[in-house]
Amino acid sequence: MTLTELGEEAAAAAEMMAEAARLARRVQVSAADVGAKSDQSPVTIADFAVQALVARRLGTRFPGDPLVAEEDAAALRDDPAGALGARVAEVIAGVEPGLGMGDLLDAIDRGRGEPSGRYWTLDPIDGTKGLLHGGQYVTALALVIDGAVVVAAIGCPRLSLRGATDADGGVAVAARGRGSWWMPMSGGAPLARLTVSGQSDPAAARIADSREAAHSDRVRQDAMLKALGCQAAPVLMDSQAKHVAVAAGDADVLVRFPRAGYREAIWDQAAGALVIEEAGGRVSDLAGRPFDFSTGRRLTRNEGLVATNRRLHDAVLAAIARGTT
Ligand code: AMP
Ligand code: MG
Repeated sequence: MTLTELGEEAAAAAEMMAEAARLARRVQVSAADVGAKSDQSPVTIADFAVQALVARRLGTRFPGDPLVAEEDAAALRDDPAGALGARVAEVIAGVEPGLGMGDLLDAIDRGRGEPSGRYWTLDPIDGTKGLLHGGQYVTALALVIDGAVVVAAIGCPRLSLRGATDADGGVAVAARGRGSWWMPMSGGAPLARLTVSGQSDPAAARIADSREAAHSDRVRQDAMLKALGCQAAPVLMDSQAKHVAVAAGDADVLVRFPRAGYREAIWDQAAGALVIEEAGGRVSDLAGRPFDFSTGRRLTRNEGLVATNRRLHDAVLAAIARGTT
């Protein structure tokens, strides 16, 4: 399979995420390059630079399409003389020479688009904490049409899949009906197919889990693991690298129990969901409902996430029902 055969949008998404992942890897993020958002989560020059880069590339290739992205330029506009903005400009100059500060901030704010019938959604750096602490992080982009993901690409600068001979990272790319594939971050080369595991024994299931305990309800998670009879060691990773691990058969199950009231952001789920489904897996919320990406920036009609190699899906849903009642 070649990129072109996956279709125009998938090829473009894969190229954008490869470029974004290379950019993120080049940026040496130091403590001075980290700001805090209003919810106190960290945001780095890499988040802003990748969002600006992808917004510029999308604006050229698909000028009519809205972009719904995690970040906005408010923090940079509030502090025009700040070090963070200057560093973002410096990083972007390497890939988009001649872009003035005004255009740079406007590019970042292009991510304030409305999720409508057809839109792109971007998490410029998913797993910012992983980036800062030497763990996994990804760049994630998806195209949604009428509430369903049709194209996805996830740039994974630090991920090496089972059987890989190096830790050079790669890009997972999926197009609805055309499979999930793994591409080197340098681009080119034929794509390698991603397929989920054949594991059907819940006791042996390898559970992919967040490294961030605060991102899920551990009590419900532990009750589910007990009900499932799971004995295998978990696979701990930040970001949608977990989704890629399930798609590649390096983990079998991924479950996210949100804390009370939390609704998943579309950019945290869209790309990962299609990459798993096109690798033969299944994705739903905790109640077994498919995701509905037509409800705005958050998945308000869904709660949590269950992603599996398909064979284990019903067993996991049953364990959730048993563990929480
Ligand atoms: P992970 O690495 O799987 O923990 O996922 C990282 C993502 O979790 C971030 O991109 C955030 O958007 C998202 N996140 C932030 N706060 C929460 C929360 N309280 N519950 C669930 N997810 C969260
Ligand atoms: Mg995220």
